[in-house]
Amino acid sequence: MADIKVAAYICKGCGLGERLDTDALVKIAQKDGKVPMAKTHDFLCNADGVAMIKNDIANEGVTHVMIGACSRRAKTEAFHFPENAVARANLREGVVWIRPDTDEARETTQEMAEDYIRMGCAEVKAMTAPGGNPNTGGSKTLLVVGGGVTGMTTAIEASKTGYPVVLVEKSGALGGWAGMLYKRTPVHEPYKSPADTGVADLVSQVMGDSNIKLYLNATIAKTDGAPGRFVVDIATESGASHTEDIGAIVQATGFTLYDMNKLPELGGGKSPNVVDQAGLEALAKTAAAGDGVIRRPSDGQPVKSVVFVQCAGQRDPTGTHLSYCSGFCCNASIKQAMYFKDTNPAVDTTIIYTDLRTPGNGEDFYRSAQEKGVIFTKGKVAEVVPNGNTSTVKFKDLILGDTDAAMADVDLVVLATGQVANSGINIDAVAEKAEEGVVEVKPISILNLTYRQGKDVPQLKQGFTDSHFICFPYETRRTGIYTAGPVRRPMDIAQAREDATGAALKAIQALENAELGRAAHPRSGDLSFPKVRLEGCTQCKRCTVECPFGAIDEDEKRFPVFNESRCRRCGTCMGACPVRVISFENYSVNTVGAQIKAVDIPDEFSEKPRILILACENDAYPALDMAGMSRNEYSAFVRIIPIRCLGSVNTIWITDALNAGYDGVMMMGCKSGDEYQCHFVKGSELGRVRLSKIDDTLKTLNLEKERVRDLEVAITDIERVPDMINKYAAELVAVGPSPFKGF
Ligand code: SF4
Ligand code: SF4
Repeated sequence: MADIKVAAYICKGCGLGERLDTDALVKIAQKDGKVPMAKTHDFLCNADGVAMIKNDIANEGVTHVMIGACSRRAKTEAFHFPENAVARANLREGVVWIRPDTDEARETTQEMAEDYIRMGCAEVKAMTAPGGNPNTGGSKTLLVVGGGVTGMTTAIEASKTGYPVVLVEKSGALGGWAGMLYKRTPVHEPYKSPADTGVADLVSQVMGDSNIKLYLNATIAKTDGAPGRFVVDIATESGASHTEDIGAIVQATGFTLYDMNKLPELGGGKSPNVVDQAGLEALAKTAAAGDGVIRRPSDGQPVKSVVFVQCAGQRDPTGTHLSYCSGFCCNASIKQAMYFKDTNPAVDTTIIYTDLRTPGNGEDFYRSAQEKGVIFTKGKVAEVVPNGNTSTVKFKDLILGDTDAAMADVDLVVLATGQVANSGINIDAVAEKAEEGVVEVKPISILNLTYRQGKDVPQLKQGFTDSHFICFPYETRRTGIYTAGPVRRPMDIAQAREDATGAALKAIQALENAELGRAAHPRSGDLSFPKVRLEGCTQCKRCTVECPFGAIDEDEKRFPVFNESRCRRCGTCMGACPVRVISFENYSVNTVGAQIKAVDIPDEFSEKPRILILACENDAYPALDMAGMSRNEYSAFVRIIPIRCLGSVNTIWITDALNAGYDGVMMMGCKSGDEYQCHFVKGSELGRVRLSKIDDTLKTLNLEKERVRDLEVAITDIERVPDMINKYAAELVAVGPSPFKGF
């Protein structure tokens, strides 16, 4: 390693000087931290304090900076020294703000601060300054897949900001689902009548924009590369192939209505007079092109009575059909009922619903339909029985409790069947299931990614693309590839347009970040990236399999190949690697291990247990900081180390801590599973699978299982986290001191 010079700076502002013996902290940095230069400052984050550090960097040859002050989440702009390795000892939120200002507490509070100084010095010495991903891309072009409202809006919005767009649509025309509509639900005052779809306007904007290159009748044959340097092969129906250099991708492939043929009990597929919402739109368009009268498909007679069946195959608790609500179909049926009422108020129009869901200004639209004479019946349709040119609709009246309610001689029945995502089929999963003889589905792929982990972006169990719906709704598990519109969750046109705008901006950020060699969110701007010491690699493939973002491929010799700009810097690969050859410049097995070892462990007679907390930096660590800001007190026995993700935890840290005499280890990570909160999607889940084996380690060491605790923590847990810590500290006192103290 090149020569390093470490300096420690300890702040006396924000009450630190009054509550802590900062001169003693300087001595700890010098003696235990072995830092040649250690200073205090009255307000380290002010211009004078920052200038002092900058001066030492410029004139004293300081390469590594340890700041003992506020949390690493505070004053990030002031303490930004991009050319240097920087560590932060959290003395404010992590010590004085969570400890009572009493004589009794003074000693343990000071001990806490001293340990954080030791840990900060140890950490910074194990770091190097992140250099940035050298393998950057250069393409600023956005690929949009899908030419419906979402795709067109994405393309137009991106183009308006100056980014070139390639728009690929598999059919011969732009418009998608909205292009099939006669009218849409209104989005402007007075919200009383169906409105123009706006599709023609979007199409003319796309066609008139020289910044948007359009491929119709085209599909994606291959997507290779990484953000900033995707190479995409586009196949056209004519057999031609075109290659485009792409910076980021938005998949806006929309939805297909749930197949009504799967609902024979509701008449689906049994009569031409039972249609889905798309079928009704087609009838309305035909009518508008003629005399305005919607006609019965079976014999062309004017429709005199129509029944709309809501939730057809949706919100199905049995799981046979769709278990979810598509959210748009109540308003769509109201709109379609108005097609009849607006041309002939004498047509009987009945909407049978279990719950009518028309949020926002949909309420005005619903009232307008009532005024126009649309009948709303709260009921659950059991059966639609076609008979000749009419049908009988049998239902349970949910107001009267009548289980045998029925409407006879209905000319037309419209089934609100809901949205199914056009997300492609996970080709690998299909192949696996086919091997088991479970399904026979023709594999299709939309993006045809050349990634080791599959050809398409991962999907949730209902087929919608994965989305961190709380924090990063457009995210997929493939960096630089975003999904927008109904392919990621059921939605209406207005929501799809908002989605498109958001996804366009995220995609632009991704290609800009890629060019600068830095991470995409949630570690936006991070210049570190995983480095692997291949000579130590055993080709076990754990990193390639576990990376939640498909960032790692394999070369022909089966060594891992890191695609840096696909990487989110979660560290899951680092936690997975059994031989510990993966590290980041500023986050590694060593940077955390050194902190664990730096803590001064009191002997077994001191009655001062030591608890190591490995806290996820996305949720748990901010919650702990906010606990400090709220002055929620917690035990002085804990020593907290922020980690990038539970997935990055290498079990060696826990073994080391237990061997060193810590009395307990608390792991704080985000919720995993289907409703995950983990910012790295699978990171906390993978980490937990690894940690589940820690029981074996405890048995080997002959330690009680209470010594390691895995906890789910959300960012809002600012009261719960201190409570958990205090309870655990009390529990450990009861368990007794670790037998490893003093060894
Ligand atoms: S596991 Fe995380 S840090 Fe490692 S390559 Fe994948 S995204 Fe990057
Ligand atoms: S996990 Fe480690 S040892 Fe296994 S393939 Fe990846 S780098 Fe090599």
